[in-house]
Amino acid sequence: MSRNLDAAPSSLAAVRALGLGEETLRLLAQIDEMGPAFAERAFRYDADASFPFENYDDLRAAGFLKLCVPKRHGGLGADYRSYMLVSQRLGFWCGTTANTFNMHVANSLWTADLVDGLDLSRKQRDEHEAHRALHYRRMVAGALYAQPFSEASSAAAGVSPFGTTAKPVDGGFVLEGRKIFASLSGAADYYGVLCTEAKSRKKASRRDTMFVAVPATAEGLTIVGDWDPLGMRGTVSRTLVLKNVFVPEDGQLMPRGIYIQAAMRWPHMFMTLAATYLGVMQAAYEFTLQYLRGEIPGMPVKRRMYPTKQIAVAEMLVKLELAWAIFLRAVAEAKLDPSEDERARALACQFTVMEHCNEVCRLAIRTCGGQSMLKSLPLERYYRDSRCGSLMLPWTAEICMDRLGRGALYRPGETDA
Ligand SMILES: Cc1cc2nc3c(=O)[nH]c(=O)nc-3n(C[C@H](O)[C@H](O)[C@H](O)COP(=O)(O)OP(=O)(O)OC[C@H]3O[C@@H](n4cnc5c(N)ncnc54)[C@H](O)[C@@H]3O)c2cc1C
Repeated sequence: MSRNLDAAPSSLAAVRALGLGEETLRLLAQIDEMGPAFAERAFRYDADASFPFENYDDLRAAGFLKLCVPKRHGGLGADYRSYMLVSQRLGFWCGTTANTFNMHVANSLWTADLVDGLDLSRKQRDEHEAHRALHYRRMVAGALYAQPFSEASSAAAGVSPFGTTAKPVDGGFVLEGRKIFASLSGAADYYGVLCTEAKSRKKASRRDTMFVAVPATAEGLTIVGDWDPLGMRGTVSRTLVLKNVFVPEDGQLMPRGIYIQAAMRWPHMFMTLAATYLGVMQAAYEFTLQYLRGEIPGMPVKRRMYPTKQIAVAEMLVKLELAWAIFLRAVAEAKLDPSEDERARALACQFTVMEHCNEVCRLAIRTCGGQSMLKSLPLERYYRDSRCGSLMLPWTAEICMDRLGRGALYRPGETDA
């Protein structure tokens, strides 16, 4: 891979704003080197609703499957901020690849420094160190992890315990349940499943949430259902059924009961998909400029001279810049125990990026016109992909708004009674 550090202007500005350096620039340059092939292949994965295996071969060969594995475990050691910029750039080239890559990376990002900062007993720390070393070894060797937690209940929204259960048995756990929207289904080597530890004679509690990696080859694990969605079609997010699936003790990605502490004290971990959709937004905006300037190969329709086009482009740019601004600020604020304001900003960031992404794509199609939405061009795919961002639990656009409004009007614990 080349040492070329030429980065796109948006990447350079972001690297500077977040105080990052050459290591991140090098990662972004690598993504930009692979990216044009990803963009080319995206048409096929979208048309067939098939997983981007070739992109993952490229990412694996370039070492990106170990992107957020700590250096002392043989990984590239990228932190949250660096990852967010890589994901953004990946989303620029291929939304589906970035969306699925996010699920893989979460398995390393959530289990490294993030867990180290939480309150764990000495025993939990030692066990976690041994367990994660195994998972990191696999990622360094090129294994792909998915992260299915959605269940068609209120669990993924963080309201109720996960219905998928893990019953402790000799040497490990037996899992039972069902996960919907499991991106990378059929492609992942391991599925990082969120489930509830089954405790006899005790009501299920979110405090007993477990995070367990189920091998794709595990007996009792099946993938069912069709996959023919509106957008992000290459994510292949089918349904996982777990019936009497044994997972050994070291399958745990976090110590028992620690997930809830992580979710409450590190809220920015739920904002990572915003990066993917910021990338899609950037791509739609840049496509529009090229289109109106008559620079799309085979489509020499120059339209930039019309004032309405200029106004629409200005409107798109304002939305894009606003999204970048709140994104950079929220990413810079990501940490353990952020303040109430910082938590609110993270929710506002997720909402702004996801909704502006769709808005910019909508404006792009209206402004470029009929020929721009042909399937031979990427814009109509950006438009369909862009609608998916707001649907991602636990931070859907609606939930972000609910929490922001309530949080602004009520102090913690305050009621009207
Ligand atoms: C392309 C794609 C890929 C995905 N990949 C994954 C993946 O890899 N792993 C994974 O776990 N999930 C994944 N998901 C699933 C996603 O995170 C959501 O779980 C899923 O979209 C929820 O669909 P639902 O119809 O069950 O939502 P529901 O939970 O039924 O929600 C429907 C609507 O009600 C609102 N709502 C729900 N709960 C509340 C609440 N408590 N308060 C207020 N409003 C609420 C939501 O905002 C939403 O608008 C993916 C989704 C898509 C579209």
